[in-house]
Amino acid sequence: MAKIIRAKAAKKPRVPSVPAKSAKRAATKKPAKAAPQPAAKKSPKPKPQKSRSWTSAEIHEVFSRFRNANPEPKGELEHLNPYTLLVAVVLSAQATDAGVNRATRALFAVADTPEKMLALGEDTVRDYIKTIGLYRNKAKNVIALSEKLIAEFGGEVPRTRAEIETLPGAGRKTANVVLNMAFGEHTMAVDTHVFRVGNRTGMAPGNNVLEVELGLEKVIPSEFMLHAHHWLILHGRYTCLARKPRCEVCLINDLCRWPEKTV
Ligand code: SF4
Repeated sequence: MAKIIRAKAAKKPRVPSVPAKSAKRAATKKPAKAAPQPAAKKSPKPKPQKSRSWTSAEIHEVFSRFRNANPEPKGELEHLNPYTLLVAVVLSAQATDAGVNRATRALFAVADTPEKMLALGEDTVRDYIKTIGLYRNKAKNVIALSEKLIAEFGGEVPRTRAEIETLPGAGRKTANVVLNMAFGEHTMAVDTHVFRVGNRTGMAPGNNVLEVELGLEKVIPSEFMLHAHHWLILHGRYTCLARKPRCEVCLINDLCRWPEKTV
């Protein structure tokens, strides 16, 4: 099971009782619309590669190299427990991890449970996160999901994708991140980086994030699945960059199928 990382107020992070009246109001309040999940739209959309499929030996080789280079990859969203991880992922839609961390360090210091978040109230939550894009809608979602966790899940983050997806602001990607990082499930969350790497390399071509997610789950051996999501995100974020991929220092440049790779 993934170790929950206790967040520190580091300069540059590596890698994330309710009053009866409030509870009643919560039950009747209409949940805010889910913030849009980060889609793979910002970067130029890579076309799925039609080149020769990867062999299992090649896939094994790629992930062995990732593992040798970084045996314990960490996510970069700071969090204290599954609840704060869930909130951080919801806040990260269309925002950078670093930007979310700057806001959540102070927020999580005073509210690391759904009960404390509700006690804080939507206006105060909004003040804490106002440096993050879409903060008004996100503050609504954080309050609404906290209310729902208390009302329906005993204040705990549920452990199934279907249940997490019912929470305001949480979609499939959020559920996959939480299941993987908080509960050690072999899920594959596809963000813009994973989408690009899956397509460019030809490892898991797909026209949308779900196709890439299912493609990666199909080809990646189980022994690598716990960390595969982080290896691919980090590879996309720091090496296989959207506009100027650093093919010359890429660990897998001999195996990559992208016709435009520069080596
Ligand atoms: S060789 Fe270039 S395009 Fe292929 S995975 Fe590496 S950085 Fe990305």
